[in-house]
Amino acid sequence: MNFDQKLKKYAKLTVRTGANVQPGQELILQCSVENAAFGRMVAESAYEAGAKVVWMAWNDDRTARLNYDYSPLEVFENPPEFVTGRYNYCAKVNGALINILSRDPEIFKGVESAKLLAATKAQHEATKEFDAAMDRNELQWNIVAVPSVSWARKVFPGMPDEEAVEKLWESIFKAVRLDEEDPVAAWQKHSRTLSDKAAFLNEQQFESLHYTNSIGTDFTVGLVKGHIWAGGSGKSASGVEYFPNMPTEEVFTMPHLSRAEGRVVSSMPLSYQGTLITDFSLTFKEGKVTDFTAKEGREALELLLNTDEGSRHLGEVALVPHHSPISDMGILFYNTLFDENASCHLALGACYPDTLQGGTELSKEELKQKGGNDSINHVDFMVGTADLKITGKRSDGSEVVVFENGNWAV
Ligand code: ZN
Ligand code: ZN
Repeated sequence: MNFDQKLKKYAKLTVRTGANVQPGQELILQCSVENAAFGRMVAESAYEAGAKVVWMAWNDDRTARLNYDYSPLEVFENPPEFVTGRYNYCAKVNGALINILSRDPEIFKGVESAKLLAATKAQHEATKEFDAAMDRNELQWNIVAVPSVSWARKVFPGMPDEEAVEKLWESIFKAVRLDEEDPVAAWQKHSRTLSDKAAFLNEQQFESLHYTNSIGTDFTVGLVKGHIWAGGSGKSASGVEYFPNMPTEEVFTMPHLSRAEGRVVSSMPLSYQGTLITDFSLTFKEGKVTDFTAKEGREALELLLNTDEGSRHLGEVALVPHHSPISDMGILFYNTLFDENASCHLALGACYPDTLQGGTELSKEELKQKGGNDSINHVDFMVGTADLKITGKRSDGSEVVVFENGNWAV
């Protein structure tokens, strides 16, 4: 199979298995201009699947950077309706959304933090209808990634550009199981494996998980009562099966917003709003981050933590074995979509309401009362290592080792 055929296969996997675009459905497609050729393939594939229309939303890292450098703060505080409106439109027409990522992990390094914060807040404010539809599982959405030159340079430093891009393509293809004879069947099988793990954890209903490893993590996180472990495919309100993330290796659930204690040390750098935060640690008390350290990017971490009240509390606990197709490649992608699927992680910020029984029917306030966190942020950070041990504690006090030496022990 030549490269072009592989791309087409990837586009088809994105449309059919990823977002699972249905006949007559509208698709909002976000893609960078640098990857226009792939974006068009996805659009064509969507039409072949019967899409009514594909609304292409082109973006460009470098223009976005210019905007931040030259435009005044007020522009980011008040984004025009034509920029944010497409999301709410997507929710209104029960559309599907595909986001093709290729961002340079350091594109916004050094940008005035007030602008980044204003953009995050304004976007959240303007897309409430869309966010609510996401929370209620009404939409089919999918995120995939394609290389950009600047991203590939970061992942494979010192390599000629063309070679780095090619190598990143290869790594992505491997991560999304495109090398398998029948990728669609491979995804179905993979989804079943993840749901088996989730089923086991759902049965256990652990009250808390205790993490320890040699880089200094000694941390306990409480899980909400009635939590649901999820993983693999999702199901939209209309019953359509879709995969929100490609790749995905995680099973995840809802931590209790006020039950986290101890110190957790990052195992990979975090790219937050285009700035890298390295070798950082967070100390929790009664669920809240009370202290933090970082080798680089301390300011970005502070910005993240100070965004709103919920940004200092956890919204997701995710388990990923240290041996997975992605982590076995031994590549640091500097992109959450890949790195979060190579490592156990936690997320600061909003919880996923569907990881609690009846959670999608609750108001934000009711959800909070049960321990579900709310924030305009949802930022994953990696904590998994080759020697990570996680012990689950049941409500009767008995314990089960869930992870040993970085991998599933059950
Ligand atoms: Zn996750
Ligand atoms: Zn997450």
